[in-house]
Amino acid sequence: LSLPQYNARRARRSTRGNRHERPRIGIMGGTFDPIHNGHLVAASEVAWVYDLDEVIFVPTGRPVFKLDKQVTNAEDRYLMTVIATASNPQFTVSRVDIDRPGITYTIDTLRDLHAEYPDAELFFITGADAVAEILHWKDADGMWDLAHFVAVTRPGYSQPQTASIPISKKVDALEIPALAISSTDVRGRASRGEPVWYLVPDGVVQYIGKHGLYQG
Ligand code: ATP
Repeated sequence: LSLPQYNARRARRSTRGNRHERPRIGIMGGTFDPIHNGHLVAASEVAWVYDLDEVIFVPTGRPVFKLDKQVTNAEDRYLMTVIATASNPQFTVSRVDIDRPGITYTIDTLRDLHAEYPDAELFFITGADAVAEILHWKDADGMWDLAHFVAVTRPGYSQPQTASIPISKKVDALEIPALAISSTDVRGRASRGEPVWYLVPDGVVQYIGKHGLYQG
C-alpha cells in the first residue's frame, strides 16, 4: 500500500462514522524482547481485517511462560516498543503490565484495559504458538467475556489450533504474511554481531546498539 493509498483509506474510515457502535481496540501482548516486524505485521493485519480503531501494545511485566529465562528489563522493552510503534497513529503502548507487580497474566491485562476502556470491544491478538496454550491460561473462563481472540499464523508453527477450542469461546484464526522472525533469533544475531536490520524497525536497531543490549 502506498502512502497516498494508505492515507486515503484512513480518511475514508474516519468518515464512515458510527459503523461500529463501540470503539474496537486490539491488544497485542508480548515480551517484546525485542519487538520485531513479525509483531508489527500481526497487529497491522488484525487492525485491518477487524477494522480496529487502535491497537494497544502491552509489554509484559514478568512473563509467566518465561519465568526460567533471563528477560531484558521492562523499561528497555517498553521504550523499544514505543519507538517501533511511533510511526503508526493507530498504535499505542500501555504500561499496565509492566507497572503491575508480580507475574503477568492475560486475565489481569484484559481486566485493566476493560476498566480503562469500558465502552470498547477488545480483540486480543496472539500468535499460533501462544494460542495452543490458551485454555490453560489462568482464569481462562473469565477471559472470553472480556475480549475476542484472534490467533494469527506464524511460520514454524502449525496453523492456529482453534478447532479444539469450543466455538462459544470466540477465537478466530487469521492467516497473515509469513515472517519467520522471533525475538530469540534477533537476540542471538545481536549477540553474535550479525545484522538485525529489517528484522526489527531501524529505531530498535539503534536502541539495541546504543544501549548494548543482547551482547551475550
Ligand atoms: P521469543 O522468541 O523471545 O519467545 P517471540 O518472537 O515469540 O519471542 P513474543 O514477544 O513472545 O515474541 O510474542 C508476542 C506475541 O506475538 C505472541 O502471541 C507470538 O505468538 C506473536 N508473534 C511473535 N512473532 C511472530 C511472528 N513472526 N508472526 C506472527 N506472530 C508472532
